[in-house]
Amino acid sequence: AQLPVKCSGCGIKLQTENKEIPGFIPEVAYDRDPVICQRCFRIKNYNEASSVSVNQDEFLRLLSGIGEKNALVIHIVDLFDFEGSLISGLQRFVGNNPVILAVNKVDLLPKVTNLNKMRNWVQQRCKEHGMKTEEIILCSAKRNQGFDRLLESVTELRGQRDVYVVGATNVGKSTLINRLISDYSDLDQELTTSQYPGTTLDTVKIPLDDGHYIIDTPGIVYPWRYSELVERQDLDAVMPAQTLKPAVYQLNEGQSLFFGGLGRFDFVQGERQSFTCFISGTLKIHRTKLERADALYQEHRGELLSPPGTDRMDKLPQWQRHEFRINRGSNTDIYVSGLGWIKLNSTEGAVIAIHVPKGVKVLTRPSLI
Ligand code: GDP
Repeated sequence: AQLPVKCSGCGIKLQTENKEIPGFIPEVAYDRDPVICQRCFRIKNYNEASSVSVNQDEFLRLLSGIGEKNALVIHIVDLFDFEGSLISGLQRFVGNNPVILAVNKVDLLPKVTNLNKMRNWVQQRCKEHGMKTEEIILCSAKRNQGFDRLLESVTELRGQRDVYVVGATNVGKSTLINRLISDYSDLDQELTTSQYPGTTLDTVKIPLDDGHYIIDTPGIVYPWRYSELVERQDLDAVMPAQTLKPAVYQLNEGQSLFFGGLGRFDFVQGERQSFTCFISGTLKIHRTKLERADALYQEHRGELLSPPGTDRMDKLPQWQRHEFRINRGSNTDIYVSGLGWIKLNSTEGAVIAIHVPKGVKVLTRPSLI
């Protein structure tokens, strides 16, 4: 059959190549009537949102209209990759519309953590990024934690408005949308494809029972996250599935840690002290002498030091070294986007270096926990 140009659900240009980007339609669905993309199909038939993604430029184009609308925005970020998944330019686009910040995946942090303290920490980071939030909600889509509060807050703030849900890829946006659908919308009875107004916005509009919509935007791809850089089969190694088990290392100056074959941490200078690694438990940590580290990497990359295995090693950009001088007196994390963070437990200060593929976002921040 001849493939129509546009999805009669969301209006996106149809394509058959890549199911992770908007407009995908499988061959078997060409002669459905009406012809709709896989994403609209799943919402219509299974009440289920699916993940698609776009690059930053396309996302900004999508977002640029929100400011003129009267809308509530739910901005969802991943607590494990906070700085890497935060849409820091969001404030410029949303105008005066209220924003709820949903900080997802709290289940990944060890139980001991104090939620109020964590909320303050998030608030502090938002302030630094010039972001105003009506409310910060710590939640876990996986454990169904914090969702009642989120739904209450949506109900309070929504009034007569549409709800835009925005987030980077893999933050749990689909899981959240599915929850909103089941709580707010009466899809079984109400939905026909004609209720998706044809737009060219690449967004899927899910009708609510009061005539307004939940608007699912594609996940934004940020190139500085490990989770975007590694091959699919190595994704599990960087994205933890279970509560982190922090690994504590007592190090002397001149010692290094390898995180599989994905990155390296050097304790360059300072008194003997302990460092806590918050990374996925499936990634093996190898301790070695700093002076031996380069040679070890050359000899064992892809084998002892893996993932990635030898076949995928060269698909990652070359490592780049970032050095930080941590001053005495502060509690600091060295954060690596999508890989985790290393907490300096001593406040005595240190010089440390981190080696990661070029382009990965690395920064220091006040300790999360
Ligand atoms: P989307 O790409 O933002 O739509 O995210 P998904 O809902 O598809 O979730 C992406 C990945 O994160 C999946 O592997 C989920 O299992 C996982 N995930 C989603 N929510 C949570 C959560 O609350 N905790 C944990 N640990 N993982 C989650």
